[in-house]
Amino acid sequence: MRLYAVGQRSETVRRANLSAIVRELHASGARSRSELVARTGLTRSAIRGLIGEFVDSGLASEVRATSLGGPGRPSPLVRPNPEGAVVLAMDVAVDSLAVALVGLGGEVLDLVRVQRPRGHSAVAEVVEQLAEQAGVITDRSRADNLIGVGVAVAGIVRRSDGFVAMAPNLGWREVPLAAPLARALETTVPISIANEADLGALAELRRGAAVGADEVLYLSGEVGVGGGLIVGGKPLTGVAGFGGEVGHFPVNPDGIACQCGSVGCWETEIGEEALLRLAGHPPGGGWAEVDAVVDEARAGSPTALDAFETVGCWLGLGLAGLVNVFNPGLVVLGGLFGRIHPLVGDALEAELGRRALAGSRALVRVVPARLGVDAPLVGAAELAFEPLLADPAAWLRPRGARAELASA
Ligand SMILES: [Zn+2]
Repeated sequence: MRLYAVGQRSETVRRANLSAIVRELHASGARSRSELVARTGLTRSAIRGLIGEFVDSGLASEVRATSLGGPGRPSPLVRPNPEGAVVLAMDVAVDSLAVALVGLGGEVLDLVRVQRPRGHSAVAEVVEQLAEQAGVITDRSRADNLIGVGVAVAGIVRRSDGFVAMAPNLGWREVPLAAPLARALETTVPISIANEADLGALAELRRGAAVGADEVLYLSGEVGVGGGLIVGGKPLTGVAGFGGEVGHFPVNPDGIACQCGSVGCWETEIGEEALLRLAGHPPGGGWAEVDAVVDEARAGSPTALDAFETVGCWLGLGLAGLVNVFNPGLVVLGGLFGRIHPLVGDALEAELGRRALAGSRALVRVVPARLGVDAPLVGAAELAFEPLLADPAAWLRPRGARAELASA
């Protein structure tokens, strides 16, 4: 009985160690054995054995390094094998649909983004389009190593089962997206669906402007405004995954009607339509109109400069409230806000300084996002890789066994 308990415990430890190693490799792209020893606290011989399991399963490869490891024997470099485990990442945005094939280690192997007209779309049409784009970039050999699908949706999503409760800019209400997508893709791998701003936050945390930060507020803007909060290094989701909808924080009781049915939400004061309205451009004009306003401001147009100043003030006002509540170390501005950061930054910082509590204000930095328009897609890939990163043991088989499975 005691021996059984010890065996069970050592298996639990082995799986936790495998997880620590694959997370290091996935995050970094490559690590020397010495670095893995230093970063995981495991012994050299333990690392050698565990790396061997990944190599035998085709998930990693080792190359003899000559320059790494300092004096003495060079430490072999361990790389994740991008083709050894792949995920499909999808982004259902307001202006476009994107599908990417992403390999272990985060390498984007292929990506197709197709612009779509704004406005409401039938779910079946979107699913069909996503499956078509996935078919273009997934050949048979890669499909064999597909371990999951991650989808970012510009809407409010229940994490547990990918149920889209509401996506106002797509015209979706109560859509069970995972099942029709699985049928269209003809796949049985897990399909994880989440809000695009939550996934943008995850992407910036793992591979962008917020690497190494634990307390982060990510704000993303397109037509709608979304937010992703990272608390203690983990996303804040709320009871069902609906949390972080900072765009619908009520800020102006005398404001205008919002897509969500309320009045005076933050989104109505800082979103793309607010900026275009203030600048005297057609509110539904999209990114081309935003670019035109940016050009006007750079040329010194007082109307355009005033529009950015007003949006910057509202940005600072809302951020002051959020900074007071969450005390983040970093605010990352994504999407629209990343692009207009140079033009709204001063007004934003001034308003933040006026309204945020001094202690919290002193500790927070506001920076533009690094991953741009693909942030939700990168986050969707991270979401799809999570089961493998958390417990890679299930994917570890001798190479021969994988080949047999594939040909069966
Ligand atoms: Zn609203």
